[in-house]
Amino acid sequence: MANLTPGPLLLEIKGYRPLGFRDAELAWPRRSVPKSGLWHSDPVTILCYHTVERDWRSTLAVTPEAFSEHCAWLARRRVVPLEEAIERIDRLGRLPRGVTALTFDDGFAGLYEHAWPVLSHFGLPATVFLVAQTLSPEGRAVDWAPTSPPGAGTLHLDQVLEMQAAGIAFGSHSYAHLDLINLDADECERDLRESRRLLEDLLKRSVPYLAYPRGLHNETVHHAAEAAGFSHAFSLPEGPEEVTSYAIPRAVIIPGNGVTTLRFKTSRLYLPFRRTPLWPALRAVARKVGLGLHLDQSHTGRTLPRTSRPRNRMRR
Ligand SMILES: [Zn+2]
Repeated sequence: MANLTPGPLLLEIKGYRPLGFRDAELAWPRRSVPKSGLWHSDPVTILCYHTVERDWRSTLAVTPEAFSEHCAWLARRRVVPLEEAIERIDRLGRLPRGVTALTFDDGFAGLYEHAWPVLSHFGLPATVFLVAQTLSPEGRAVDWAPTSPPGAGTLHLDQVLEMQAAGIAFGSHSYAHLDLINLDADECERDLRESRRLLEDLLKRSVPYLAYPRGLHNETVHHAAEAAGFSHAFSLPEGPEEVTSYAIPRAVIIPGNGVTTLRFKTSRLYLPFRRTPLWPALRAVARKVGLGLHLDQSHTGRTLPRTSRPRNRMRR
């Protein structure tokens, strides 16, 4: 494995814009509704990984071998930075033909050792959503995962800054990884605002994107995210939900997902399909007949509650 940090030249050759957040992001245009054609392109969705580890038997960790295989396949398509994905996403949460974006929730330490070298090798941009409290002076134990991750648990600040300098982008995964739908409006806004303040302080740049812990969100959470200063937030839909700036759908990748499943999860039908009322029943049937598609979205594999209809439409 060579070329651990992709330079601008490699990224230009592969057709990417230079990685990392730029001043222009502060002036992100906010059109009300996407105008891209709904059925004129083959969609590829935004993917959500958690971490890459060899020795952690968890629904959150794919193996280095599987991740390398995924990245080799993705590198033959077009992986764009998240801000570009937002610009190009349609009403159904889909990206144009051959395009996807990579995100990682939780900021686990395995990203530094196992994911970043592979991303760099293939020149793939990615965004990592950090639990801000893990970088605070008091720190934060990983008590939201079913089992504890090996070693350090989550990324250290120096690792985050090193990855950021090499082009990896960072967003917020809230301050304390609480289920935001269980907080009242003020508590929720406080958590999210504090996460953004701390991360912007540490990263020395704007943090406009949020990924909801466990994908849990509702209209109150959307308002809190907006009030806390986030421009866009990402979910993990488990049923009907409208795509808006504060409910941008992603498909989660979990252990056991091979390239065939990856192809399915980035297919034209996947995201619209899993946002239908039929989804829970279809998933149960798929499991029963042993399709092995590994469709769970949440950290725990439990079904997430449906969300109320949000007032905010997608904006750019
Ligand atoms: Zn999480």
